[in-house]
Amino acid sequence: MGKPTGFLEFERIEEHHLSVKDRIKNYNEFTATLTDDEASIQAARCMDCGIPFCSNSCPVHNVIPDFNDLVYQGEYEKAIKVLHSASNFPEFTGRVCPALCEASCSCRLNGKSVGIRSIERKIIDRAWDHGLVRPVIAKVKTGKSVAVVGSGPSGLACAQQLARAGHTVTVYEKNSHIGGLLRFGIPDFKLPKSLIDRRIDQMEAEGVTFLTNTLIADSKDLPHGVCNDATKVIAPKELLQKYDAVVMCGGSETPRDLNVPGRELKNVHFALEFLIGQNKEVNGGRKNPINTKGKHVIVIGGGDTGADCVGTATRQGAASVTQIELFPRPPLEEEIDILTTWPNWPIMFRTYTSHEEGSETGKLERLYALNTKELIGGDNGEVKKIKLMQIEIKEGRPVDIPGTEVELPADFVFIATGFVHPLDKVLASFGVEKDMRGNVKANPDITADCAFKTSVDKLFAAGDMRSGQSLVVRAMSEGRRCAHAVDAYLMGSSLLPIC
Ligand SMILES: Cc1cc2nc3c(=O)[nH]c(=O)nc-3n(C[C@H](O)[C@H](O)[C@H](O)COP(=O)(O)OP(=O)(O)OC[C@H]3O[C@@H](n4cnc5c(N)ncnc54)[C@H](O)[C@@H]3O)c2cc1C
Ligand code: SF4
Repeated sequence: MGKPTGFLEFERIEEHHLSVKDRIKNYNEFTATLTDDEASIQAARCMDCGIPFCSNSCPVHNVIPDFNDLVYQGEYEKAIKVLHSASNFPEFTGRVCPALCEASCSCRLNGKSVGIRSIERKIIDRAWDHGLVRPVIAKVKTGKSVAVVGSGPSGLACAQQLARAGHTVTVYEKNSHIGGLLRFGIPDFKLPKSLIDRRIDQMEAEGVTFLTNTLIADSKDLPHGVCNDATKVIAPKELLQKYDAVVMCGGSETPRDLNVPGRELKNVHFALEFLIGQNKEVNGGRKNPINTKGKHVIVIGGGDTGADCVGTATRQGAASVTQIELFPRPPLEEEIDILTTWPNWPIMFRTYTSHEEGSETGKLERLYALNTKELIGGDNGEVKKIKLMQIEIKEGRPVDIPGTEVELPADFVFIATGFVHPLDKVLASFGVEKDMRGNVKANPDITADCAFKTSVDKLFAAGDMRSGQSLVVRAMSEGRRCAHAVDAYLMGSSLLPIC
């Protein structure tokens, strides 16, 4: 424990942000890594609890009290070893993780939690700056080969672990660039893509081969709204014949649609159509075909994806952005009795940086308890208005309140209501059994003999494709654990970590 009285002496430190006025001028990252002094103070607040609830809540079980102590001591070389022992890509989670760990920090019981995510980011950013992140090349090759389908956080973590265990790993990706939703979903202002590129360089040096624009399925066509840059199609059967094991890490790509009259109107899009277009433009691709400058934008859905649409529309110069959520506004942090939720993740009202931007520019309105009833079109077939009705919750379900209809102007509508399951077509091509929710059926219990195995011989599944839509850190955890299971399947046992 760094400083026994640290939590009494120091307040939590927030990372510095560029002002809203400056940051909405472009898509650059606007949050700064803590300085050495700030990180030392932040880490000094850790109480090194007998039971580290923080570590338990973190899906990769980061060894948080240990790295906090090392940061307090200024021992960054040791801190990065501790951090990398549990996590392949802390620079991603150090930026976009909702910090499940911080909800269970003991300091939160009568004050503010330790800023764990900011310490994680500090350690990894400093490690990259000081040349401490190097390829870890397997000393012995096993002669076994593995194909990983999909290059999001689960596929990347799985591939890196397997390559370090000595297997020859090839990652297949249907899109033009590696990274899954890290690359084309999450905007640059939250996660600069150069961070993915340098990890790809590291993984290539470790022996991983990346093949982009390559769809693994029986044919090329995928449903509307799904990003598909494939110029080549390989049948799953071919992959299963060629490799000793295949891992499906294809994410949960079927968007939940909005089944209301007017859904077919022009300028009504799935959120990812808007975000992918912008991510491609920012990274030197063609201009985003969806331009909201000077327009009234409606975002349906209150989660991460919706917030990313708000931030992107604000940067494009939308006239107004209205974010609509079906359920009533959750309680504010101060309205929650901490003792009834801690150490669990509390359901509460959250304000993301994109919301701060919308509020400060006076362009954002966040509306709750509203059900979308209809999209109303203009003369040229584009959307012009959205009709909403208030709801109340009865027996846990939203119920419309008659006579409460309202209409709002809408030049663009983005549907950000989540993802229901992986692409049926891809799962059918592999011939895998599905679970009740339409995800790939596989047991994530790493102690079971069948861990992460699908119903098809030699075929494993991990990440959102197995669990349903989730978080970067959970996908990474699945990828790591699945790598252990694949290694054990190929070699009889595995020394790869199980968390
Ligand atoms: C807009 C948005 C913002 C988000 N923001 C956050 C956030 O801030 N923090 C957070 O923790 N989580 C966030 N998430 C969730 C997080 O991004 C996902 O949970 C995570 O990326 C899932 O990782 P994955 O590896 O399972 O799948 P994905 O990241 O979805 O990657 C799957 C990859 O597989 C490829 N693929 C699929 N099928 C095939 C095939 N047949 N052949 C070849 N390639 C294939 C896809 O093209 C894709 O690149 C966000 C999600 C979205 C949509
Ligand atoms: S990955 Fe997320 S939950 Fe784990 S330590 Fe980092 S911020 Fe916390």
